[in-house]
Amino acid sequence: MKPEVLQCYRNLLIQRIQDLLQSAGYAVQFMRESGESMPDICDQAVREFFHTISFSLRDKERETIREIREAIRRIDEGTFGICRLCNKRISEKRMLAHPSTTLCIDCKRKEEALQIYQGKIFTPLSVSDSDWEQ
Ligand SMILES: [Zn+2]
Repeated sequence: MKPEVLQCYRNLLIQRIQDLLQSAGYAVQFMRESGESMPDICDQAVREFFHTISFSLRDKERETIREIREAIRRIDEGTFGICRLCNKRISEKRMLAHPSTTLCIDCKRKEEALQIYQGKIFTPLSVSDSDWEQ
């Protein structure tokens, strides 16, 4: 990839992190506001509900931010846009849609198919194996 194209991706990725952090900040602010204005037990449940939602959102945001930071690291290392399994270039269309991806579409499909296969075939067997060992 050309340096100017990589710089565009870098800016795009940094912008995504900033957007995520900003939306996380709003989530925290909302929690604090609802905590102050809703003191009784019923509202406590509502508050806990939003509290849980905010935490799950932040877990997802944290994971996304980690993926984006990895992508920025790959830009620095010169491996950005290269599939980590087959070492082929990931299509520009896919990179634009998912800038933090590490797999080309073929490897992604294979990985997903393998996960479905493992989930249906191997997981129940491995669980019963460990049950026998205990
Ligand atoms: Zn691949």
